[in-house]
Amino acid sequence: ERSEAHYYGAGPALMPTEVLQQAAYDIINYCGEGVGVGEISHRSKLADDIINNTKKNIADLLSIPDNYEVFFMQGGGTTGFSSVATNLSSNFYKQNGDLGIRAKPYYIVNGTWSLKSFEEAKRLGLDAEVYYNVKQSNGKFDDYKTNSNKQLPKLNKDQVSYLYYCDNETVNGIEFPEPPKVESGINIVCDMSSNFLSKKVDVSKYGLIFAGAQKNVGLAGLTIYIIRKDLISQLNEKIDEEKKIMDKYHLPITPIANHFPTVIKNNSAYNTIPIFTLYILKLVTDKLIAEGGLENQQKLNNYKSEILYGVLDKYPKLFDLPVNTEARSNMNVVFRINGDGLESKFIEEAKNEGFTGLKGHRSVGGCRVSIYNAISKQSVEKLVAFIDKFAASQ
Ligand code: PMP
Repeated sequence: ERSEAHYYGAGPALMPTEVLQQAAYDIINYCGEGVGVGEISHRSKLADDIINNTKKNIADLLSIPDNYEVFFMQGGGTTGFSSVATNLSSNFYKQNGDLGIRAKPYYIVNGTWSLKSFEEAKRLGLDAEVYYNVKQSNGKFDDYKTNSNKQLPKLNKDQVSYLYYCDNETVNGIEFPEPPKVESGINIVCDMSSNFLSKKVDVSKYGLIFAGAQKNVGLAGLTIYIIRKDLISQLNEKIDEEKKIMDKYHLPITPIANHFPTVIKNNSAYNTIPIFTLYILKLVTDKLIAEGGLENQQKLNNYKSEILYGVLDKYPKLFDLPVNTEARSNMNVVFRINGDGLESKFIEEAKNEGFTGLKGHRSVGGCRVSIYNAISKQSVEKLVAFIDKFAASQ
């Protein structure tokens, strides 16, 4: 039991209380087995059912076409950065043989996390390029849409192993209104860690989507991947053959537990899957489906962000919103408060009223309200009323 929480942290974030209650019960005794869900073998029928049902829930929610595979790995978003880089760097060579060209990954840098992902690809030794950088000379991240009139370099699909972007930049409060438009045949790879299952997405536009679970859909420790099957077939299942290609092109080898073809071949249980964390994801997705799927959730998320941006826009002298309207995130609402000491006063007064987790990321400061799926309409309405009162009294 717990009383209503008004916690707006950026992740880990609030989970639906009824999901946690069910999980708390099942971690002690699952399906009357006399052992908990975290204690069953990852190769048992019970575990296999959890894996398959969760895959099916995600496929149903996103209407994922048949030519895609859903799989899970340990590790979170950052492991996703490295895993994408090492696994996909080989796709081009298996498909094309030695053409004497080096296909490169291209990264759109639109905030803190895509920058980190790009840096990881470079650190691992990939010849990664920044395709488009919205980081301004003042160190701030501008949004993609504002600059989309700028001439973007034309990409030749024969020279691109993948084009990477982050759909929702958690720190900067920037969300892509739609995926970047590129020539067909280019594999788009997307980090959806902080807006996964917050809205409908046309999966067919992507080569690969990945998301750490701990913001919108679950607990830390699990990453969800959705990959187009022909992209898997371009990877090398045979690890000795793959090694030869990687050595030849001086590309990094993928650790075996993160090797996509190996993990997929073993239905996400090549090594021990964190089954309790996955079970939470199953319960969260069951609930989403029971409550009308992503259409409903998206409506609710739109409503929450509209009233929140609405109250901030009402006081333009007091609140400074750095992101242009079209690129404002539906999940992470970031703002600064003008006036000496007013930000700390705001955070302090909010805390006294029971609203917590409102501090901006340490790298950018300011305030951030994360309104993931599990944050209720009523909670946001109360927060909006508090902000209104706070602003009016300044
Ligand atoms: N990508 C995004 C968009 C994120 O918000 C985060 C975490 N804040 C990460 C990646 C990194 O996730 P993790 O801490 O699970 O490695």
